[in-house]
Amino acid sequence: SKVPFITLHNGVAMPQLGFGVWQVPDDEAEQTVATALEAGYRSIDTAAVYGNEKGTGKAVTGSGIAREELFVTTKVWNSDQGYDATLRAFDTSLGKLGLDHVDLYLIHWPMPAKDRYVDTYRALEKIHADGRAKAIGVSNFKPEHLERLMGETSVVPAVNQIELHPQLQQSGVRDFHAKHGIATEAWSPLGQGKDLLRAPTVVAVARKHDRTPAQVVLRWHLQVGNVVIPKSVTPSRIQENIDVFDFELDADDMAAFAALDESKRLGPDPSDIN
Ligand code: NAD
Repeated sequence: SKVPFITLHNGVAMPQLGFGVWQVPDDEAEQTVATALEAGYRSIDTAAVYGNEKGTGKAVTGSGIAREELFVTTKVWNSDQGYDATLRAFDTSLGKLGLDHVDLYLIHWPMPAKDRYVDTYRALEKIHADGRAKAIGVSNFKPEHLERLMGETSVVPAVNQIELHPQLQQSGVRDFHAKHGIATEAWSPLGQGKDLLRAPTVVAVARKHDRTPAQVVLRWHLQVGNVVIPKSVTPSRIQENIDVFDFELDADDMAAFAALDESKRLGPDPSDIN
């Protein structure tokens, strides 16, 4: 496929576009992920809490694609934070996936009031040292959480996966990541398929390029340097969302997208999840 890679700070190559499986039921995940792999996706983003690691793993192991060509991400859920609990949760995830390693293991939310993310991350460092996760990182961390984490642990998170789309551009967090060599991965990159895809600017840019709104939104992400993991269960959209490597937005388009930022979260503020 034509999906480019970004190089994480530890040298691991990560596809810049992957497939997200939040809200895909376990008994549909095998078929849906298989469709994505056939369309050319090589990176899959799941999480223990999504409840579909089994179906996802079946598609991965049954695909006939060499393991080293695939990039599998999963995440430790909030109730499993803490050193020992995280080591156990990781074993459970690997067992469900049917794999001997993942490519990326993330802390799903910081849960700052519980104050366990440093211990949790030490378990990720152990998993990484043992070669069972090629890279480790976090999700939904704010710069203040990253500062604390980096001050007390030794492996800089390779990735921070955060809510990010044209209506929530997160430029302050992106600048912080760039300064520390942390890759920015965008969740809900399509704004969950809601009003973003009907915004007049997005519709106009799509029309100009004879593309769909989803495709120009994904192009914006790729051109600002984000890793994206759009989700769909519809085969035609799964295909459409990866067919974004044969055109480019120009400077006018990028400026129009810049003006869409309204700091609008679809999900919760990470400080409020505990
Ligand atoms: P998304 O922005 O990828 O939007 C998905 C929805 O958009 C689909 O359900 C569909 O309704 C619509 N859609 C998809 N393709 C389309 C197309 N081509 N045209 C029109 N509509 C289309 O939203 P998401 O699923 O929330 O996010 C993507 C992935 O990010 C998730 O599956 C998950 O892997 C990850 N995620 C992570 C967190 C986290 O806390 N770390 C939170 C949310 C999501």
